[in-house]
Amino acid sequence: MTLRIAIIGSGPSGFYAAEALQKSVAGVQVDLFDRLPTPYGLVRGGVAPDHPKIKSVTRVFDRIASQPGFRFLGHVSVGEDVSVAELREHYDAVVLAYGAQTDRHLGIPGERLAGSHAATEFVGWYNGHPDYLEHCFDLSPRAAAVIGLGNVAMDVVRILAKSPDALATTDLAAHALAALHHSQLHTIHIIARRGPVQAACTTPELRELGEIDDVDVIVDPRDLDLDPVSAAHLGAGEDRTAEKNLAIFRQWADRDARDARRKLVFHFNASPVEITGDRHVTGMRLVRNRLEPDGRGGVRAVPTDITETVPLGLVFRSVGYRGEALDGVPFDSARGVIPNLSGRVLAAPESTTTIPGLYVCGWIKRGPQGIIGTNKSDAAETIEQLIVDAAAGRLGGNRRSTAQIDELLAKRGVRTTDWADWQRLDREEQARGAPAGRPREKLTLVSEMLEFLGK
Ligand code: NAP
Repeated sequence: MTLRIAIIGSGPSGFYAAEALQKSVAGVQVDLFDRLPTPYGLVRGGVAPDHPKIKSVTRVFDRIASQPGFRFLGHVSVGEDVSVAELREHYDAVVLAYGAQTDRHLGIPGERLAGSHAATEFVGWYNGHPDYLEHCFDLSPRAAAVIGLGNVAMDVVRILAKSPDALATTDLAAHALAALHHSQLHTIHIIARRGPVQAACTTPELRELGEIDDVDVIVDPRDLDLDPVSAAHLGAGEDRTAEKNLAIFRQWADRDARDARRKLVFHFNASPVEITGDRHVTGMRLVRNRLEPDGRGGVRAVPTDITETVPLGLVFRSVGYRGEALDGVPFDSARGVIPNLSGRVLAAPESTTTIPGLYVCGWIKRGPQGIIGTNKSDAAETIEQLIVDAAAGRLGGNRRSTAQIDELLAKRGVRTTDWADWQRLDREEQARGAPAGRPREKLTLVSEMLEFLGK
C-alpha cells in the first residue's frame, strides 16, 4: 500500500525529508505543510539577502516539489488549524520539521529596553518575514552592539555595515532598505564571551566583514595572545576553521585603521552584564572574562571583576535560536528540542518509549546548529527509521484519505495554498523586483498574498 506522509515545515529539513522519502519509497505521497503561503523556511526568511548562492538551494527544493505524489499545503498552522493528533489519523506518519523559531535570551537587566532586540527579529524583518513586519528598528544611534560570534551575528553585522546601495540589488525587504538608507550607525561592537579561537562563525562569513566597502575592522592584538588551552587546541592541528579564523583576526589586528564610514570593533573575552538606559538603551556594561579549562577539552568564560561601559543605542543579541513546543508533542524544554532517538519521537525526554508514526528532523530534532546541507543527512537518518518502522508494520495504519484531510481543512475555513499558488507568487515577486534589477520584491503580508491569489 502507498505510504502517505505529512511533513510539518517546508524549510530545508522538511524538503530533505520529502526527498529521502521519494528516493526510498515507491509511489510515496508527501503532503508538506507550512503555516505561511510561501515555502523554504529559513532559506527565504533567514538566509541573508546578500548570499544569493546559498538561496539557490531552492532549485533543489523545486525539483523535489515537482515529483509525483508531492503536495504543498501552505497557510495551514498545525496546532491551530489542525492538530498533530488529527494529522496522525490522516497519514501513515507525521514528520515534524518546523525548526527553531524563537531566540535565546541573555537573562541580564535591561534586555527588554527599547533598542534591545533579538537578532532573529532583525533577520526576519530585513528578510520580509510576515511575523516581523511590526518590528521597528531605530537605526539613528551612532553605535550598536551585536552579541555573539556565530554566523547569524556575521549576517547582522554585514547588513548593518554595508551601504544600502550594495544591498539594493538583493531581495532585502523594501522597508528594510528604506530604513538602512537613514541609518546613522558608525560603530558596531561585536561582543564575544570567549576568545578568537572559539569563534562560532565559519571562515568565509568572517572574511566577508573585512571586504565590506569603507569599513574599518578593529581587533586589539592583545586579544590574540592565546590562553594555554586554546593554544594547545590549535597546536593539535585539527581545527582548520579556528586556524583560518585566527589568521584573519591577525591580519585585521595588523591593519592601520583608516577613517572609514563605519567601524567594526571586536571585543573578545567580554560578556554583557547589563544593558543600561531608562526607557531606551544608552549603553552596555561588559565584564572582562578569563578563559579556564572546561574539563571537556575546551574553555569556558569566567567573569573577572573588571567591567567597562560602552555607550551605544542599539543592541542585537545573537546567541542562538530556540525551538518551541507544539501542542500534543513531547518537548525537552531544557534543550528546546523534541526528544527523539535518531528521529523517532520519544514519549518524554528521559523515556525510551517511542511514539508510533511520529518523527522529527532538522533544528527541532538536533537544536539550531549546522548549515543547510546538514539537514540532508539529518533528514535521511529520520526517514530511515520511518521506513524500518513501516516495513515492520509499526506505523499504525488507520489512516484516512487525502480527500478527508482537505475536507477537514475546508470545513474549518482554512484557505490553503498549493505549489501552483506559490509559483504564481514567485513569478509576481520576480516581476515586481525586475525593474529595479532585484531578484524579487517580496510580498510580505499574508493577507496581500492571499488577496493576490484570490483566496
Ligand atoms: P551559533 O553558531 O550557535 O553561535 C552562537 C554565538 O552566541 C556563539 O558565539 C556563542 O558563544 C554565543 N553565545 C551563546 N550564549 C551566549 C551568552 N549567554 N553570552 C554571550 N554569548 C553567547 O548560533 P547562530 O549564529 O544563531 O547560528 C545558528 C546556526 O545557523 C549555526 O550552525 C550557523 O552556522 C548557521 N548559520 C549559517 C549561516 C551560513 O552558512 N552563512 C548563516 C547563518 C546561520 P560560545 O561559543 O561561547 O557559546
